[in-house]
Parts: sequence; C-alpha cells; structure tokens
Amino acid sequence: MSKIIDFRSDTVTRPTPEMREAMASAEVGDDVYGDDPTINSLQAYAAERLGFESALFTATGTQANLLAIMSHCGRGDEYLCGQSAHNYRYEGGGAAVLGSVQPQPIENEPDGSISLVKAKAAIKPDDFHFAPTRMLSLENTIGGRVLSLDYQRQARAFCNDHGLLLHLDGARVFNAAVKSECDVTEITRYYDSVSVCLSKGLGAPVGSLLLGSKAFIERATRLRKMLGGGMRQAGILAAAGRIALEKGPQRLAEDHENAEHLSAGLADIPQLEINPASTQTNIVYARCRSGKAAGLRDFLHTQGILITAGDPIRLVTHRDVNRQDVDQLLEAIRRFYQL
Ligand SMILES: *Cc1c(COP(=O)(O)O)cnc(C)c1O
Repeated sequence: MSKIIDFRSDTVTRPTPEMREAMASAEVGDDVYGDDPTINSLQAYAAERLGFESALFTATGTQANLLAIMSHCGRGDEYLCGQSAHNYRYEGGGAAVLGSVQPQPIENEPDGSISLVKAKAAIKPDDFHFAPTRMLSLENTIGGRVLSLDYQRQARAFCNDHGLLLHLDGARVFNAAVKSECDVTEITRYYDSVSVCLSKGLGAPVGSLLLGSKAFIERATRLRKMLGGGMRQAGILAAAGRIALEKGPQRLAEDHENAEHLSAGLADIPQLEINPASTQTNIVYARCRSGKAAGLRDFLHTQGILITAGDPIRLVTHRDVNRQDVDQLLEAIRRFYQL
C-alpha cells in the first residue's frame, strides 16, 4: 500500500519506533495511588520544563482545559475567552455543562488576541445580578497565529489589576515558542495555569499536561478523578509523552518551514486565495475562489492525500509529512486545476 499523506491535523502522527519501545518497557504502577513512576517522572519533568510547581497528565487537551476552568472557577462564576477559543467553541460546552461555569466570549482581534479594552468592559460589576468574573483564558498559538510576548505581558498586568486568574490554552505553545524565538518559559511565566498537548506537533500518541501551582494541581487531580480521568498504568502513555516533550520541540521549526513552503506554493495557484504572511507556524489556511473545496478534497483523496475541506481549507504540517510530501500536494492541486 502506498503511503497516505495526511494534512488534516498534527494529531495524526504515529508513535515513532523509539516511543513504541519506551512504551513497551515502561515501568508502571497504579497512577490513582500515585504509584506510576513513569507518570510521576513525566509530571516532575514537565513542571520543571515549563516553569511551574506541579503538573498533571491528562487524557486530552479538552480535559486539561476543563480541569483548569473548574479548578479556577466555581459554580456560577464566569471566564472570559475568545469567540474562537478552543475551550469555548470546540469542547462541547464542557465548562458550562460539567462545570456550571459561564463562558463570556469576546470577538478575537485579527491577530488572535483579545482586546484588553473589550475584556475590561466584559468584567461584571460586583452585583448579585451578575456572574462573578474569575478568569481570562488566552490561546497560543490560536489558529496557527502567535500572541506576542508583549501582549501576554500586558494581559498578565491586566489580570493583576482586575483580580483575575490567567489561563493559557497552550495546546501548541511550543510552536509559539519556536516562532517567538524564545524558551517556552518566557511565555508560560505570565500564566497561572497552562495546558499543553503532547499529541499534536510534539508527536505523542495520547495525552496532554496541565501545569500550575501545587494547590491548583491538587484541585485538578480531584476533579480529574471525578470526570473519569483517573487512569491506572498510564505510564505506558507517559513514556511516549516524555519523548514527545523532550525531543518534539526541536523539530517544530521544520514543520514551520514546510508550512511556509506550502503557503508560497499555494499563492501561485490562481484558483486559491491565500495570504502567505498569515502562515506563522504549522497551519496554513487557503480559500477556494469557487467556494467549492469538496471537489478538491475528493480528488486529492484519489491521489492518496487527505485534507480538511472547510471554508477556508486548513492544512497542517507535522512530523509525518516532509518537504517532498508538500511538493506532492502542490503538484496534485495543480493537476486538479489543470495548471
Ligand atoms: C487540539 C486542541 C485542544 C484539545 O485537545 P484534544 O487533545 O484534542 O482534546 C485544545 N486547545 C487547542 C487550541 C487545540 O488545538
């Protein structure tokens, strides 16, 4: 069978032989008893690596974000977030459904940030008509765009001034650090808590991390059990997660270069509309001028290439697609448009 080239997401990577080997030989115990040495070691390493007191291994990024919201906010509180935030839009309304925490979405600015003027206007006065505003949640990267360090510093000062907690959905925070040319702690230092996906560009098969203070992670651990996320010999997963966290970040620059190369190639195809300057990390967006992306997707499928045919089309680079695969995608698109 010839290789399928998958540009749908950076979640599609398969574990490397090194990961499979580490999984097979991982030392494990019952993590609900705190007995899994591989989990404990990953959590300690992650806390140190991202500059926090404590860390918690979670099943998914969605679970890590939900635990953060529920650990920071009580029933009837609210959190401020972007209208296009993953933890508002793409997590099934979990904060409201399972946490009884009300989201207050704010339209994102074109660069993905949330205007602090708009955020200020959305903070509720201390009056029993309103849900108490407890937290601001940012996302970096957001739709592949990077928040500037200066903006994040301002957001921290804003939260200090208004008595708000600050959470980062950092599913792809290592992509942000690579683009910002800084250590990841220069980003995470501004936040009370951060969630990170090990299973995206970093390449682990399963798992995310939640980071914060010791007391915060204790609350999150209790909630994780309640939400059915107390896993037993989860060191099998953490063994791959450790390799992802240690070795994943150093190869993200290659994904960004491939995304840039893809963007430049797409810009030469008149039937597509793309602003190459908008490609900042590993996610490329393009629009079919005809408005019909499904035909292109179906054709590419016959060529062994998978894409997500939204409007816009989203193409994601990752460890399992190389420069040659990107060129193959570009050639296939040109064939589709008979160029
Ligand atoms: C993927 C993603 C998540 C959720 O991660 P899952 O592991 O898929 O639940 C959260 N936030 C952002 C920004 C993401 O891209």
